[in-house]
Amino acid sequence: MPSPEELKERILRLKEERNAVILAHNYQIPDIQDIADFLGDSLALAIKAREIEEDVIVFCGVDFMAETAAILNPDKTVIIPDTKAKCPLAGMVDAEGLRKMKEEHPDAAVVSYVNTTAETKALSDYCCTSANAVEVVKAVPNKKVIFTPDRNLGAYVRSQVKDKEIILWPGFCATHDALRVEDFMQLKKEHPEAEILAHPECRPEVLEIADHVFSTGGMVKHVRSSSKKEFIVGTEKDMAYRLKKENPDKIFYTLDRAICPTMKKITLENLLEALENMAPVVKVPEELAEKARVPIERMIEIGRGERTG
Ligand code: SF4
Repeated sequence: MPSPEELKERILRLKEERNAVILAHNYQIPDIQDIADFLGDSLALAIKAREIEEDVIVFCGVDFMAETAAILNPDKTVIIPDTKAKCPLAGMVDAEGLRKMKEEHPDAAVVSYVNTTAETKALSDYCCTSANAVEVVKAVPNKKVIFTPDRNLGAYVRSQVKDKEIILWPGFCATHDALRVEDFMQLKKEHPEAEILAHPECRPEVLEIADHVFSTGGMVKHVRSSSKKEFIVGTEKDMAYRLKKENPDKIFYTLDRAICPTMKKITLENLLEALENMAPVVKVPEELAEKARVPIERMIEIGRGERTG
C-alpha cells in the first residue's frame, strides 16, 4: 500500500505529464486540499474552470461542479475521480416539476443554485451560488422569483430581498440541514469567545443565532481579516482544515455531524487512478450545455463577490 506522500508524489508527477490542473472544493479531505492547484467555493471554482488553459481539468468535488466546468470550458477534458460523488441536493429538482411550476408562475424568473443538474440549469434564467445568491436575486428584473433547489438558502435570500416574491423549491442539503441550534450553543457554551459562522444552507433558526452568514469563500475572507481569534465553523468539517492552514494562530471548532459523505468519495487513490486512465470523463451534450451555459454566464456577470451577508 503506497503511503499518502507517495500517492501525492505520483499524482503531481502524472498531473504534469497530462498537462492537467486539479480544482478542489473547500470540503475535500485535507490530503486533496494539499495538492490542489486551486481550492475554492463553487463560484470561485466555476470562474476558475472557465479560465483554465491546460488540457485537462481534474475536478475534486461533486458531479454538478465537474459538469459546470465542462459546460464553461467545453474544449477541455474534465475528469471526476469518482462518479459516485453526486450531490443529493442537485438531484432534488425534477425537470417535469420545475416546468409545471414555471407554468403556474409565468411572470417569475427561475434562479437556480449552481447545485443543480445541467437539465435544471437549462430550464433556469439565472444561476447563483451561496456566495452571490442575494446579489443575483436583487439583479433579476422580475418581481417574482422561483428559487431552486435549496429552501434554506432561498429563505435566507428572501430575508435579505424584501421587495420580491420568492417561491421556494422544497430541497435541502442533508449535511447542513442536520445542524441544530443546540449543536452550536453547546460549542458556544464551551468557547464563549468564539464567533459563529454559518453557511446559508443551514436552517433559518441556525442563521438567526449566527454572528455571520457566509459561503465558504466568504468564511475564508472574513477569518483572514477578523481580529477575532476563535470561530465555530457552521459548515462541512473539512472547511476548518483550510481555515487553520491559512490562519495558524486562530482556533476553529467544528460540528461532529457536519460531514458531506459525497464529497468524501474523492480519495488520493481514485484521483491517481483517474489521472492514469484519463477517466471518468464528464461530458455534457452540446445542445444541453448551450442552454445551461446561459444562466451560469449571467451569474458570473452579476456576482463575482464571495460574501453572502
Ligand atoms: S454539502 Fe450539501 S450541497 Fe454541498 S455537496 Fe454535500 S450534499 Fe451537496
